Amino acid sequence: MENLRNRSLSELEELVLSMGQPKFRAKQLFGWIYKGKTSFREMHNLPEVFVKKLEESCTIDALELVTVKESSLDGTRKFLFRLADGNAVESVFMRYKYGNSVCISSQAGCRMGCAFCASGLDGLVRNLTAGEMISQVLDIERETGEPVNHIVVMGTGEPFDNYHELSRFIRIMNDKNGANLGMRSFTVSTCGLVPKIARFAEDFPQVNLAISLHAATEEGRSAIMPVNRSYPLSVLIPAVKEYTNKTNRRVTFEFALIHGVNDRDEDVEALYKLVKGMLCHVNLIPLNEVSETGFVTAGRARAREICEELERRGVPATVRRQMGADIDGACGQLRLENSKKTVE
Ligand code: SAH
Repeated sequence: MENLRNRSLSELEELVLSMGQPKFRAKQLFGWIYKGKTSFREMHNLPEVFVKKLEESCTIDALELVTVKESSLDGTRKFLFRLADGNAVESVFMRYKYGNSVCISSQAGCRMGCAFCASGLDGLVRNLTAGEMISQVLDIERETGEPVNHIVVMGTGEPFDNYHELSRFIRIMNDKNGANLGMRSFTVSTCGLVPKIARFAEDFPQVNLAISLHAATEEGRSAIMPVNRSYPLSVLIPAVKEYTNKTNRRVTFEFALIHGVNDRDEDVEALYKLVKGMLCHVNLIPLNEVSETGFVTAGRARAREICEELERRGVPATVRRQMGADIDGACGQLRLENSKKTVE
């Protein structure tokens, strides 16, 4: 049985034609899928013969919801979903004044191995399909009964390590016949897979890009982010400059502050020197502590101090708002907790 959430409109058209139906049926079907329907029976404008045929070989599957935790502070909800093959992925729903945001995972696990991150502790299991990314959004819309206005690809996984499915995901969710989310409603975060940054500027010049920086010296960055050994700052920063020149879009540098590792005065100085004059914005994140890693957070007060200093020296900076503080720490921890439970 094929899950139709993994097809673009043109791929649905091929399917519909192969079933002997007129091409316009694909648009109807696509429209229903993005209205959240999971049963062909509910698609009132499709003829009975076609519905029967669809039921023989296709489904529109929601993911299995394993757990949901809701914050009593700000309404943030963290979802743990099980994929058809048993792997679990985490997604987060956040309510902001300008709309609802969903943070999705792009891979089960991750192979980037950042020292402070929970998602990579068990390595990469596999890439998610576009359909599995789409499902995270559609199922959260269904669970919350609220529309999703903004999608951030900042959950488990390195989206640029799964570029093909990431691209399909964005294009399908952007299609005006379905979810119709504007290109500017997406934000993709990468640890810095340099060749993909240029490609992304070509393919998706309107999509927001965030770069996980976390250290401003080669030595410091290589110590906590193995990716820096393949794509050091000396090639990453020029690639980001090329990106901003080409797209004229401001990039966000994410900087998770770790006590004694990247929050010292000399680290702030190096950060300032590295990014000054760039079309960028620095997002300072007090580290979410992951007990397995042993790293300690620099705390919000230090984050605010660094933020003020950067701003004073002309580098736009903010401290990331903490959402859902009462319902678990860092991204990836829900999934990790769950996999431990299954192992034990
Ligand atoms: N692989 C992509 C996207 C997923 S991670 C990337 O690296 O950008 C999303 C963001 O959360 C990244 O900036 C990542 O470095 C950060 N992050 C990971 N673990 C964290 C932790 N324990 N505390 C704070 N931020 C963390």
